[in-house]
Amino acid sequence: MPIHEKSLIRPENLVTHEHLELDGVDVSGHWSTFINSRAVTDYNEAMQEEIAALPGGEFIHRCWQCGSCTNACTVNAINPDFNPRYWIYLIRMGMQDELLRDKDIIWQCVSCNKCTYACPRDVNPEGVMKATSHWLELKGFTEKKPSMVFDEAFSEQVFATGKIEDGLVLRQFFKRMGLPLFQDWLVALVRGLLMKLPVSLMMKLGLATIFRPRTRNWAAASQAIDEYVAERHAADARALKLDAQGAE
Ligand code: SF4
Ligand code: SF4
Repeated sequence: MPIHEKSLIRPENLVTHEHLELDGVDVSGHWSTFINSRAVTDYNEAMQEEIAALPGGEFIHRCWQCGSCTNACTVNAINPDFNPRYWIYLIRMGMQDELLRDKDIIWQCVSCNKCTYACPRDVNPEGVMKATSHWLELKGFTEKKPSMVFDEAFSEQVFATGKIEDGLVLRQFFKRMGLPLFQDWLVALVRGLLMKLPVSLMMKLGLATIFRPRTRNWAAASQAIDEYVAERHAADARALKLDAQGAE
């Protein structure tokens, strides 16, 4: 649906009269449909700048609205409301309230990057989707999504040990999400692995979840990464004016 129809003619803006007669003509119901005029007063002029300041959003200004990203999008093929081109339009226009209508689906981007390959302007739409999800969360418009909780559990482990143990990541994810550890699909997966993988490898995997192996001489790298992450968080907070300095 073209942008103007979608953003301006929403069901709540349509008014009909159940019983209406004009000059002796019955125009009740559908025949008396009016569209409420809509003055947009909710512009957030800083929105593009804020999202552009977050990782992935840097090139949003290049978009020329060709729609190739949405045409290529994996999620749009399943849910037509998932529309990267439309959200980029709203962000560039500063139409915050319109964007917030879709706040609970923007995070569903699966990072397949089809949009990024299709984009003729190197906007990096996948990055813009990530930056937008991040912006929504930092601004307090959405709660932390499951994908973000998983990313955090994954990253924290890499930062701390320089290695990934899938079992530990999953355990942390379930714990933080308040989910039971023993889920049917997981039990079936482990059972399948037990039957197919060599016993020595299974023992190695099991021991790794208990003893948490580290990459040798990882401490310095870990410290450098922690410092970078702290700097990044501070920069994001400054860009969105969420820090004490920005609030002044
Ligand atoms: S990366 Fe996200 S926005 Fe881009 S095509 Fe894949 S699902 Fe769609
Ligand atoms: S493909 Fe690129 S230029 Fe075209 S609408 Fe999407 S982000 Fe904008």
